[in-house]
Amino acid sequence: MKKHLRAICLAIFTGFLLFSCSPVQKQAFATVLLVNGNFFTADSLMPHASAVAILNDRILAVGTDADMRKLADDKTEILDMQGAFGMPGFIEGHGHFKGLGGSLENLNLLGTSSWQEITDLVAAKAAGTPEGDWIEGRGWHQEKWTRQPDRTVNGYPYHDQLSAVSAGRPVLLFHASGHGLIANEKAMQLAGISRETSDPIGGRIVRDASGNPIGVFEENAMDLITKPFSDWENRRSEAERQAAFEKTVGLATRACLEKGITSFQDAGSDFWEVAQYRRLAESGQLGIRLWVMIMQPAPADFSKLADYPQIGLGNQHFTCRAVKAYLDGALGSYGAWLLAPYADKPDSYGQNTTPMANIAVLADQCRQHKLQLCVHAIGDRANREVLDLFAGAGPQARWRIEHSQHIDKQDIPRFAALGVIASMQAIHCTSDAPFVVKRLGEERARTGAYAWRSLLDSGARLANGTDAPVEDVDPLPCLYAAVSRKRAPANGIMQDAFFPEQCMTRREALLSYTRWNAYAAFEEADKGILAPGKLADLVILDKDLLQCTPEDILQAKVQKTILGGRVVFTR
Ligand SMILES: [Zn+2]
Repeated sequence: MKKHLRAICLAIFTGFLLFSCSPVQKQAFATVLLVNGNFFTADSLMPHASAVAILNDRILAVGTDADMRKLADDKTEILDMQGAFGMPGFIEGHGHFKGLGGSLENLNLLGTSSWQEITDLVAAKAAGTPEGDWIEGRGWHQEKWTRQPDRTVNGYPYHDQLSAVSAGRPVLLFHASGHGLIANEKAMQLAGISRETSDPIGGRIVRDASGNPIGVFEENAMDLITKPFSDWENRRSEAERQAAFEKTVGLATRACLEKGITSFQDAGSDFWEVAQYRRLAESGQLGIRLWVMIMQPAPADFSKLADYPQIGLGNQHFTCRAVKAYLDGALGSYGAWLLAPYADKPDSYGQNTTPMANIAVLADQCRQHKLQLCVHAIGDRANREVLDLFAGAGPQARWRIEHSQHIDKQDIPRFAALGVIASMQAIHCTSDAPFVVKRLGEERARTGAYAWRSLLDSGARLANGTDAPVEDVDPLPCLYAAVSRKRAPANGIMQDAFFPEQCMTRREALLSYTRWNAYAAFEEADKGILAPGKLADLVILDKDLLQCTPEDILQAKVQKTILGGRVVFTR
């Protein structure tokens, strides 16, 4: 029955091609044929195949080598996969594309394990940076330090050592979570920060016992200190800005293609950036497919939303049909908005960074312009508030909760009931694991932290991603986290699993990075499975991700990335 159905689909699709081709052409032949492969299609009608026939940028047919070879003529390029594993190209479900490019240009602190190591890196960077130029870095996390600095406040270091090594250059080092930063003295001077500066709404200037800022700025307080930095950046001409942006985009694109990512869902860009992505896509200069959320627009900019949605522009390389909003912060920095206080900070429920009333106004705008609303919610209080708000939107709107990280037991079934998409990042679970029980206590951690199994069992739709550059953009460690709830073994030592009863199956993990992410973006008609008519976006790997051991997922190497029927990366 299923085979029969597939034959009908193929006939309809090739019929369409015949009709649309010139009358001279009797049959649509493949431009590229991938044979002798081991393909997981992510399509329940035909989950496995050995060959894929491609016509230009779309899949013509999927099946056996013998059947697909019938679609080749003397012009068809035939690629022998030599038994390699292939599947639909990875779709990153939530990342920050420009931030990813920036992390490759600026100081990358993700792998650092002490404050000393960080200030040494800044000292080296400062030596090659003209006085007055800004130094930017990202990825530090005090919970990952093996040695604590001499003086700390809430575990954060003071700026003095950082200020000493950077002299006249302002420095901003963003926290791995993206929800805080540490600045040096020069940056604080330029921003006019003193002990008299008061905390903004939804943000905190971290101070010592005598009230002096130590250099750390959380949530909305970051705006105070990034203002002189963006002023410095904005003094450049439009041409300089565009050139810098294109360089950043080029770095991010290459990083993705090397890792088998053919589509990237960007979790928030401003109007200027969105316009740049569109320009690059329409002029054929965007080497990856981008699906972009507009970063939380101010009421003064609501009129600009009338220009959206913009769907499938630049030959399916650019779509903007969603709006991003932030309701709270991150767990590590006590920013997640909770129903009950933190276990290790009993006076705190976390931070509500945008008043619910403002999110509700944004929701009205999204409804009016037929845009998806994607709200960042980490804490269980934040998740409940968003579910309450989304209840009115209806499942056809496919509104998303970005992170859906800590959910009260009672709220888990509401995702499926309301058709709200839980846009999760499996890798966050294993990165955060060392401090989750500390922050939330055993009960909340066990029943509601990164509860993707419970969500799936309740019928919820999931998306998966890395939140790059918060984490490495590589899908493979994220897939490993999804199926094992473990961090990569360190020095040959296997790590403990974080509540392993919440693991995804292998198949679910692969679907979460393909078909499910396509659905979460309204793109299932074009992407997410290998089937006739879909875009010919594939990744070829040297390990069978369905059958190999969990640890082998971490060892797998991308051999080829194919985007729109063209090989865009080969190892
Ligand atoms: Zn994010």
